[in-house]
Amino acid sequence: MKKIFILLVILTNGLLPAQQKIQNGENFAIVIHGGAGTILKKNLTDELEKEYKDKIAQAMQAGYDTLKNGGRSMDAVVAAIKILEDSPLFNAGKGSVFTADGKNEMDAAIMDGNTLKAGAVAGVRTIKNPITAALCVLEKSQHVMMVGSGAEKFVKTCSCEFADTSYFFEQKRWDQLQKIKQTEKMESDHGFVSPVEDKDKKFGTVGVVALDKAGNIAAGTSTGGMTNKKFGRVGDAPIIGAGTYANNKTCGVSCTGHGEYFIRAVAAYDVSALMEYKGLSVEQAAAEVVMKKLKSMGGEGGLIAIDKKGNITMPFNSAGMYRGYMKGNGKKEILIFK
Ligand code: ASP
Repeated sequence: MKKIFILLVILTNGLLPAQQKIQNGENFAIVIHGGAGTILKKNLTDELEKEYKDKIAQAMQAGYDTLKNGGRSMDAVVAAIKILEDSPLFNAGKGSVFTADGKNEMDAAIMDGNTLKAGAVAGVRTIKNPITAALCVLEKSQHVMMVGSGAEKFVKTCSCEFADTSYFFEQKRWDQLQKIKQTEKMESDHGFVSPVEDKDKKFGTVGVVALDKAGNIAAGTSTGGMTNKKFGRVGDAPIIGAGTYANNKTCGVSCTGHGEYFIRAVAAYDVSALMEYKGLSVEQAAAEVVMKKLKSMGGEGGLIAIDKKGNITMPFNSAGMYRGYMKGNGKKEILIFK
């Protein structure tokens, strides 16, 4: 009897802090990525490093404020991603990479972990903030994913802002395409494969996962895809379960990296499934997918995730990943390198 009593005291004391946090509304959190890849300190000037960190901080603050004021995790995700899409630093919205035929074709998705509803757009060319189009598909359509001109036509029913295709042009992205094309030409002329120079191997996709005061998780991802992508290629970002996933029972996930591998690994859902069916923690599950499964397939990149208690993890198997988080208790970090 005495043993049972002591056990009960230990158990309830162990549970109290988390419960108190939820009651105090402190248990909200937001985590952000701005892409993974060969991001090395030696290739980044102090000024540029500051620019990246400042922009991530600004986006994170916007999402955090939404959560702090009692807003929905989905709105926090959209608020933060819009800021990153508007910045040419990242491969999403303005500053998206170019396709093989010199166009910007963007993909985005958002998922609500509470209802398991999701919305996604792929290959859109004139929507200023593709994440708002994804939210429009989630909230206003009976579908999950819409592509190209059909998606652009549908989202006119929402207040999504449109932009001319020239708005998305960034010289540095254009130069990256020309460089890859030169490599391809060498390859076909000389019959050998010259690897893309390491320091150019960056995935600048953006993603946000948030947990709100009501305990609802949402995840969103937005991207221009991969430089030199061909003929209507769609990456992992807008594919629910591959690059984006959220479920209140487990976690929310947003990925960045070589999309084809993340699609084949069903990476985002796999993190959730490892938690649901195998009882792994969010940290263990994410590490299993990024450091073991994707790595063994040759899939470079990383992900961010939050579980229902507000635990955060940000693993990556590349040299770096722009990333940051902010918790309801005030804890905050912004990191780039390993
Ligand atoms: N995952 C994205 C894609 O394959 C690229 C990225 O993360 O930057 O489209």
